Formats: sequence, structure tokens, C-alpha cells
Amino acid sequence: MNIPEIDKDKCIGCEACVDACLRDGLEVVDNVATFVGEDCTWCGNCEAACPTGAITCPYDVIYDTSDECGCGHDHDHDHDHE
Ligand code: SF4
Ligand code: SF4
Repeated sequence: MNIPEIDKDKCIGCEACVDACLRDGLEVVDNVATFVGEDCTWCGNCEAACPTGAITCPYDVIYDTSDECGCGHDHDHDHDHE
């Protein structure tokens, strides 16, 4: 699962991201925003709400040029059917 990146050095513990998260995914723990949820929709609300730019939802652009589908499963399973 993707979760937002939180720069602990930039975070001032203002809880703006906590309020912004529609999924209750964030809490401030020891004055630092921490992802505590199970379900981040990558909506970017927390990134938009943060006054210091401490929290970001970076996108990885991956060009997959292989023939694999990229699902991470082994397609060569040898199933024994009776
Ligand atoms: S991207 Fe959206 S769902 Fe995920 S932690 Fe930030 S506000 Fe919450
Ligand atoms: S909005 Fe930014 S500064 Fe405020 S608690 Fe969240 S990550 Fe930290």
C-alpha cells in the first residue's frame, strides 16, 4: 500500500493533515504526523493542507517494458488437477 511520505524534520505537529484526511489515516504522535490508517486513497488532501510541505504523496511513474503483467505473481505455477 502507498502511504504518504512524512518529513519529520519539517512537520510542526499542527494537525492540519489529520483534519484533512477523509480516511482518518493520520494522527500526530509525539508532535509528528504519523500514518496510522489502513486505507490511504492517495487523495492528496494531506499534502494540500500541510503548511510546511512536510507531507507528500509522490507518484512513481513506472514504465514496464517486460512481458510480465507486473502483478507480482508467478505465472508458472504447476497446478495438479485430478
Ligand atoms: S493522501 Fe488522502 S487518504 Fe492518504 S493520508 Fe493523505 S489525506 Fe489521508
Ligand atoms: S499538516 Fe504538515 S506540519 Fe501539520 S501535522 Fe501534518 S505533516 Fe505535520
